[in-house]
Order: sequence, then structure tokens, then C-alpha cells
Amino acid sequence: MKPIEENRPVILIATGNAGKVRELSVLFAELPFNFRGLDAFPVIDEVPETASTFQKNAELKAIGYAQQTGLISLADDSGLSVDALNGEPGVLSARYGGDVGFDQKMKMVLSAMADSSDPVRTARFVCAMVLADPDGRILASVDGVCEGTIAHAPRGNGGFGYDPIFIPDGYNNTFGELNDAEKQQISHRARAAAKIMRYLLAFKAL
Ligand code: IMP
Repeated sequence: MKPIEENRPVILIATGNAGKVRELSVLFAELPFNFRGLDAFPVIDEVPETASTFQKNAELKAIGYAQQTGLISLADDSGLSVDALNGEPGVLSARYGGDVGFDQKMKMVLSAMADSSDPVRTARFVCAMVLADPDGRILASVDGVCEGTIAHAPRGNGGFGYDPIFIPDGYNNTFGELNDAEKQQISHRARAAAKIMRYLLAFKAL
């Protein structure tokens, strides 16, 4: 994250996920704010993701971290929704299969889909993004979706999480094989970030 510049409002990027922080820092690089991550607050209670939708979990995180830090906070709740698995891993993407690495989580998705032929390997990445203030008010709530299919085996080691098994529509490569700039043009997170930008700029104008 960039060094603090004077006279710029501070906005908390309320996530501990290094992959998300890296992508959001690039997407918001030109905005006139000082962005901080949760790593700047070593003593903070984790906000539990108890809801059953991306939007509601993003609200819980944005409000919970804004109230704890006193900062306008931006939270992203996202995940991979696979049609052949009735939408799983979905809101449980980070927790799918328990405390195992993403190599293992991807293996579990692939083996659960072993009988799914190409036409039914459709899936989408979804990102809900919410901006909230320390009084618990929601300033903006948007989402972004990237449609695609699930590969038959992981390919590439770019990105993070489930990127090596997701092939976005219109591409032959997985997100894991695309470079950061290519992913940022079409990703669920980039689409949500583009929508929330006007709310961030409106807040700056206050
Ligand atoms: P949460 O939003 O913190 O609940 O976690 C989202 C989880 O969804 C991440 O840990 C990843 O497993 C997955 N995910 C979200 N966005 C992406 C992405 O862009 N690429 C790969 N996996 C993602």
C-alpha cells in the first residue's frame, strides 16, 4: 500500500486476504485516498461472516470494521459459485473443505464435478462490495460477476484462491494463467470496484 499523503481521507480496506488487498490497491491506485489494510490494526476482533449471501456478509464486515476502527471501511465478500454443485463453494469459498490449502480445495471441487461434462461446468465468480461509515451506515453496496467454466485440472499459478481452475468466458486460459492486468479487465472484483468508485469520489467531495 502507498505511503500516507496529507489531506487525503483514510479508507480501510477491510480484509486480511493478501490477494484481495493486492488487487484492490491496483484498482484504486489513482483515487485520492489513503488506503489502509487490516494489517494496520493488529488488535482487532475478526468480524464473523455469519450470513448466507455475499452482500450481507460484505455489509457485516464493512460495518463491523468501520465501527471498530472509526474509519470509512470498504469490505469485499466474494467467492466461486459452481452450477453443478448447486452454487457451492459460494459464500463458504474461503472455508470449503475446512482448514486446508487451495490446492486441496480445488481438488475437492474437481472431484465433486468429475461426472460433469463441459456444457455443465458453468460457474461464476461473484464479488459484493460495501462501503460503510463508523456509525454503521451503508454508503454504497454493489456487486460484480464474472461468468466462466471450471477447467478439468488446475492451470497456472497467478492470482490466488480458485484462479487456476476458473476459465472466464471468451478465454481459453484460466485466471491462474492470465496476468494481473488481464484478470483486472474482466474480474468480478474489478467490476464491483468500477461501480463503487463513483461513491468513493462522491464521499471525497463532501
Ligand atoms: P471471503 O470473501 O473472505 O469470504 O473469501 C473469499 C474467498 O473466495 C477467497 O478466499 C477465495 O477462496 C475465493 N475468491 C474470491 N475472489 C477470488 C478470486 O478473484 N480468485 C480466486 N478465488 C477467489
